[in-house]
This record gives sequence, C-alpha cells and structure tokens, in this order.
Amino acid sequence: MSELNPKLHDIYDEVLRRNPGEAEFHQAVFEVLSSLGPVVSKHPQYVDSAVIRRMCEPERQIIFRVPWLDDNGNVQINRGFRVEFNSALGPYKGGLRFHPSVYLGIIKFLGFEQIFKNSLTGLPIGGGKGGSDFDPKGRSDNEIMRFCQSFMTELYRHLGEYTDVPAGDIGVGGREIGYLFGQYKRITNRYESGVLTGKGLTWGGSQVRTEATGYGAVFFADEILKTAKDSFEGKRAVVSGSGNVAIYAIEKIHQLGGTVVACSDSSGYIVDEKGIDLELLKEIKEVKRERIEAYATTRGGTTQFVNGGSIWDVPCQIAVPSATQNELDGSHAATLAQNGCKIVAEGANMPCTPEAVKLFTEAGVTVAPGKAANAGGVATSALEMQQNASRDSWSFEYTEQRLAAIMQSIHHRCLVTADEYGAPGNYVVGANIAGFIQVADAMTALGLI
Ligand code: NDP
Repeated sequence: MSELNPKLHDIYDEVLRRNPGEAEFHQAVFEVLSSLGPVVSKHPQYVDSAVIRRMCEPERQIIFRVPWLDDNGNVQINRGFRVEFNSALGPYKGGLRFHPSVYLGIIKFLGFEQIFKNSLTGLPIGGGKGGSDFDPKGRSDNEIMRFCQSFMTELYRHLGEYTDVPAGDIGVGGREIGYLFGQYKRITNRYESGVLTGKGLTWGGSQVRTEATGYGAVFFADEILKTAKDSFEGKRAVVSGSGNVAIYAIEKIHQLGGTVVACSDSSGYIVDEKGIDLELLKEIKEVKRERIEAYATTRGGTTQFVNGGSIWDVPCQIAVPSATQNELDGSHAATLAQNGCKIVAEGANMPCTPEAVKLFTEAGVTVAPGKAANAGGVATSALEMQQNASRDSWSFEYTEQRLAAIMQSIHHRCLVTADEYGAPGNYVVGANIAGFIQVADAMTALGLI
C-alpha cells in the first residue's frame, strides 16, 4: 500500500473486498493506481467524482455454461466469460482467451488493462475481454469447432459491431475466429463482418492483423532505440513464447537487422545462436502445431532445447516477453540486467511482475509496458472494423504504415505524459496516465455512468 497515494487507498481496498481471490485483477488495478498519484494531486476531481472507483467496476460481467461433445461422444462442460468493462470511448473491444488457467480474475485483469490500452491507440474503442477455461491442446479440429460453436451460441446475444467486438488471444487464432464467426452468422442470419476481428483475409479480415501485435511491440522498441539515437541493427534479442505475438515479433526484429536467439513454449525454450529460422518455426507452430522441441530436433547443429528452465538466462540486449502474465519475475529481471539487457518490450499482457518492473527501473533498463507496446494488435483490429464499415480492404503496405504511425503516436504520448507528470523516460507511468485521462474525461462528459 505504501506506493499508493493515500486518496487511492479506499478505492483499492474496495477492489480487494469486491473481488476476493482475483490476484491478477488486484495486481493490474494496483499497477495503474500506483501511477495515478500525481494525477489525483493535480486533479482531485477524478477522486471526488468517483470516476476512478467506477472505472474499477466492470459495466457488465457475463459467465455461462459451454457444453460440447468430444470425439468419443462424451459430454464436456466448460465455463465461458465476457467482461464488458468500459464503453466510454466506443464498443467493448478485446480478445478471447482459451486456456485452462482462465477464471474471472484473469479475464478482469485483461479487460481492465484493455481499457487503457485501447484509449492509448487514439481509436474509438472501449475495453472488454473474454474466454474460457477450455484447453485446446491435443483437441481435434472437429472438437475445436464444436466448442467454438457452443461458446458462440451463448455469446452471440451480447455482441454486435456497435456493442462488443471480440478478437483472438492465447489459444484463439484464425481457425477459432472462423468457427466463431460462422456460428454468429448462422444464428443471426447477418453477415456482420464488424462483429469479430482477426478474420481471414478472404472473409472480411485485414492485412497485417495477424502480424500486428508482434510487429507493433517491435515498432515501439524501435522508437525507444531511435530516441537514444540507436537502432535494432546488430542487436541480440530474446522473445518468449512461440505463438502469434512471438512469431511476428521475431519476424520484425529480423527485418530491422536484429537477431533473435531464443524463444519458448510452456515445455521449455530453444537457443539458436545463428538466429531463429522463422520459416521452420512457423511450420512447427502454425502448421503442425507441435511442441518447441521439434524446432531443435529438425534444425539440428548447435541448436539446443532446454526442458523447463528459464529463457531469461539467455543473455540479450532486448527482451520481448510474449507468452503470458507474470512470466518474468524479480530474479529473472536481475539476471537480464546483469547480462546487459537494456530494453524490455512487453508483447504479452503484464508479463513482468511488479518486482521485475521495479528492479528494471532501478537498474536503468527501459520497460515498455504491454498496454502501450502490444496495443498494435487491437489498433489493427480497429482498422479492420474501419475497413468492414466502409466495405473496403487496404493493402499490406498501407495498413502497416498505419500501424507504425499508431505505435509512434503511442510512444510519443507516453513520453510526453511521463514528462508532464514528473517521471521523465518512464513509459509505465506515461502509459497509465495517458490512457487513464482520456477515459476519465470521456466518462465525466457522459454523466454518471
Ligand atoms: P498464442 O496462444 O498464440 O501463444 C501463446 C504462447 O505463449 C505459446 O507459445 C504458449 O505456449 C505460451 N504460453 C501460454 N501460456 C503459457 C504459460 N502459462 N506458461 C508458459 N508459456 C505459456 O497467444 P498470443 O501470442 O496471441 O498471446 C501471447 C500474449 O500476448 C498473451 O499475454 C496475450 O494476452 C498477449 N496479447 C495478444 C494479442 C494478440 O493479438 N494475439 C494482443 C495483445 C496482447 P504453449 O503453447 O505451450 O501453451
């Protein structure tokens, strides 16, 4: 509590009391509140009007049963969630996560983060998040389809291009979005492209959406480097995970002249000193859906697979954690800093623990927080919605330019805001305050909502 402005203690206490056992949500709220001290000192009206308190309470939380039949004809039951957190800036927008660890506390933390992230993009989108404790690993295509159809059979009534627009997240990629969209279309008899983003290119998707989160995180890191008159050229990087965000972060780092020497999945990590062979990684992860060890076995040479262990033991100048929340803790941060890491760009949501962020800050390592650095995914989703609304489709080059410009603008807003509130160069503070003020002002303008 010591890091919180005294005016915010009661708000945080209320969050703890109202949401027992939701550790990730508590962490996400604390992280934002701990940046807001200078804001409430300068503008006490944000506390007086209870806008911060209201922001911590979702507008709506939906929890539902998802029954489906597995390939052996057995009934399986999962739990589905959609937390519609804040619609002050636009329709609820945020991904769906399918992972066995999912419960209300994870969806709320992600939904809360999404409010500020979406605000930072400067685009008209509110914040929401959803998902299920369904585990897609080892499931057949037919099982995935039946699960998605059952999930959408309940969720559809809460969605709409002006209401709530989900996308992918962990465990939800193009295949799942296809099954979800197909079921939405069947139930509603509407080809409402703008109801989901991350669609395939031949049925309403946008160029660059698949690449956007990973590319965006690297564009953000590139802006940090440019501010220091530096570049990716010749830099050594480590990217955790080997899913959607990780793969395209690796691709962009290589395009900008850096070398990624390690990536991972939940079974362990691989080290490839020659630089990750991206075509091979895509084949193993996106086509064959195999474990990361298969990369080392196929690539051979000096490539190593490390079972378990920590990818953060691999020395690098730039780290891009792109797997999951709290994957990088204080001891990992200490190792990275000792090994000469200078920039950590969060591709995942909240991958660094609070202790890790503190340690990095003290050691002079720049942290680009997820709500700024990984906002390229949702920003490009908003561009997909624009294209759907105007029945248009843009080229890869044009869409990538738009993404790069958005990431530059987010970077600039974070820097300027951090300066204005007495924390020069601190992107964590800059992102939290800039994201917050825009939503708080919109909520104030809209009356008591
Ligand atoms: P994917 O499902 O495509 O990939 C996730 C990767 O992280 C996999 O390699 C997975 O390994 C690994 N991983 C997941 N959970 C764990 C865990 N508990 N422990 C260790 N490794 C784990 O997801 P995305 O790439 O889409 O998402 C990654 C992160 O980026 C998440 O935090 C997500 O919220 C965030 N994000 C994603 C966006 C997007 O557009 N997709 C947008 C903004 C943020 P394994 O296969 O073994 O589970």
